[in-house]
Amino acid sequence: MTVKHLGIHIFKLAAVACFAVSLACAGTSPVKAQAAPIPAGFAEPVTTELAPGLYTFGNFGRRSIFVVTGDGVIATDPVSADFAAAMRAAISKITPAPVKYVIYSHQHWDHVSGGQIFKDEGATFISHEKCLAHFDRHPNPAIVRPDRTVAGGETIELGGRALKLMYFGPNHGDCMLVMQLDGTDVLYVNDLVTPYSLGLGMMPDYDPAEWLHTLRELEARPDWQRIVGGHGVPFGKRDAVTQRRHFIEQLMAAVKTEFDNGLNVEQMTAKIVLPEFKDVRGYDQQIGRAIERAYRFYEMGW
Ligand SMILES: [Zn+2]
Repeated sequence: MTVKHLGIHIFKLAAVACFAVSLACAGTSPVKAQAAPIPAGFAEPVTTELAPGLYTFGNFGRRSIFVVTGDGVIATDPVSADFAAAMRAAISKITPAPVKYVIYSHQHWDHVSGGQIFKDEGATFISHEKCLAHFDRHPNPAIVRPDRTVAGGETIELGGRALKLMYFGPNHGDCMLVMQLDGTDVLYVNDLVTPYSLGLGMMPDYDPAEWLHTLRELEARPDWQRIVGGHGVPFGKRDAVTQRRHFIEQLMAAVKTEFDNGLNVEQMTAKIVLPEFKDVRGYDQQIGRAIERAYRFYEMGW
């Protein structure tokens, strides 16, 4: 693991890698793969400094952020015991200070498992208040239950820095916190946007209409230029949010048209193609489940 001072060269590398992978995917058999291959150079976790005191840690599979201050560290999603141990080691290379806070972005287990290593050193765990119902209704021993909850709009202050925790309502799940460190142009949006990739498309607990509202609210904010998602390349620019919004808008419009034409979900999955996104990473793997989620929105009203 090395600290890379982020420059435009990394952004270009990521774009080239994603493009190369999308071409490779386009030439594969029609049998849907479980996941698109990881681009070269993104398999091992890497620490990337995005702004003074603000780092992202992860590989192409999972990604979190952490904030280093003179009085301690604010970490975010621990992901798994192994990932958390690797992130802890990466933090130790930068500062001897303890991790004082762990902030969960949302409730999904693939991002919030494995935080015990931070609990053991005394960190306070924080999530949005709506996450608690998920953790209590379906407990997972790998997840440290939050010590505190927020409703959105709060800031976590440490060592003269302030991490703003924003809540935009239900979108990807119902307890997503978007984070921004004061004095930086970076938003941590986790699964709301996987830059230049379709990520997991749409899962059953995604709310497509509210997700669009959130993306539009993010686009309307002038106070950021870069986003960190929970997967993929170290960061995206504003066009990554717009691309995600366009995908959902075009998906919903296409599904509504075929729904009104009387097609069932299998028929519209076979028929619908979104040309603007065919070469975006993950399209072949995710378009089917995205269509099914949108179909349920028009069929069931949620
Ligand atoms: Zn998620």
